[in-house]
Amino acid sequence: MDHESPVGVSVLLRYQELALKGRNRPWFQRHLIRHLHRALAGLGVREIRVPMGRLEVVLGRDAAMAEVRERLQYVFGLANYSVAVRVAPEMEAIAAGILKDLPREAPAGFRVRVRRADKQFPARTPDIEREIGRRIVEARGWPVNLSDPALTIGVEIVPGEAYYSFGKEPGAGGLPTGTGGRVVAMLSGGIDSPVAAWRMMRRGCQATLVHFHSAPFLSRASQDKARELARVLARYQLRVTLHLVPIGEIQRQITLSVPGALRVILYRRLMLRIAERIALRSSAHGLVTGDVLGQVASQTLENMAVTGAAVTMPLFRPLIGMDKDEIVAEAERLGTYRISIVPDEDCCTLFTPRHPVTRARHGEIEDAERGLPTGEFVDTALRASVREHVTWPAVEGS
Ligand code: ATP
Ligand code: MG
Repeated sequence: MDHESPVGVSVLLRYQELALKGRNRPWFQRHLIRHLHRALAGLGVREIRVPMGRLEVVLGRDAAMAEVRERLQYVFGLANYSVAVRVAPEMEAIAAGILKDLPREAPAGFRVRVRRADKQFPARTPDIEREIGRRIVEARGWPVNLSDPALTIGVEIVPGEAYYSFGKEPGAGGLPTGTGGRVVAMLSGGIDSPVAAWRMMRRGCQATLVHFHSAPFLSRASQDKARELARVLARYQLRVTLHLVPIGEIQRQITLSVPGALRVILYRRLMLRIAERIALRSSAHGLVTGDVLGQVASQTLENMAVTGAAVTMPLFRPLIGMDKDEIVAEAERLGTYRISIVPDEDCCTLFTPRHPVTRARHGEIEDAERGLPTGEFVDTALRASVREHVTWPAVEGS
């Protein structure tokens, strides 16, 4: 065998948290592998292998590496990853490969870090590190820095093969898509709800999105924002279903009998009931909102309790204890912030006073709802709703 030439270019993927899942691990792994195949479709993936505690995406020589990296950023379940070269598990092959592929630019300091899962390998880990480091210094004169290297050259030795890589990139963390079950996430055009949906998605949930709007009473701007937000979120899930549900006419009917101060709570309860029906149809087991304790009038503890009581399905509020600036920072990282801040007309402002009730009581809300045909409202809204599918990288309608 020609040890000078690498066997292939790969991406080595590491999944810290997954490793802890004991007997479920193969199941998590299968989800992750299936997702990776779909996420990297069309980019020259030859196969995905599972060398000891790692995943290896084997790529053709002409693979679009920049695009592979771009797509990997959005794969949940990855702690980090490195573009790596697979070589024969022999000192000479490893060292020669590294020397050939070293970046042109000298780093401020480097170190070699070896991880040896193959205990049969003849040399000890520190000896391999020292030997490869010595050869690099000899060839390039690069400064060694063991405590805070600008470049870490990684070597992984597993039975039958070895890999080397230059640095690693952080993954999206979380758990593989699909391992957490399905949820229905309520997506307004605001800053919070896309972050809330993303947080549940990161924990492995498959999210279906629901947006309520008051067109034609208000503009279509909020729907366009919801679509654009869905496109950002679709990167993580590859395919997202967005339900656009018109509730303007129902809101108008609510105004006929319900005092202004209570309307937002009634709208919310209606939204939850509709979302719950969508959830039941799509085998989802939870609803998600971007509520934050105390952020606005509708998010006092009392109001959230009264609102949530409209449904029996578990209601998740992953942002409940966060501060606004923390949520904004997360939204900026995700890329949803710039979409969320575009002005629109939120449906909750339709027919509502500036000062809604802050401490609603169950009794008064139930009284206000008593005369309303709630079941009919839900049915009407669902019949009028439109479903769109967003796929990433391409977008399709239906
Ligand atoms: P956001 O920034 O997500 O809009 P917010 O701080 O503006 O949140 P509210 O407007 O009170 O707070 O909304 C609270 C939550 O209710 C939202 O995070 C969202 O999950 C849900 N929600 C509100 N309006 C809508 C809507 N038009 N369509 C879908 N969900 C909505
Ligand atoms: Mg809002």
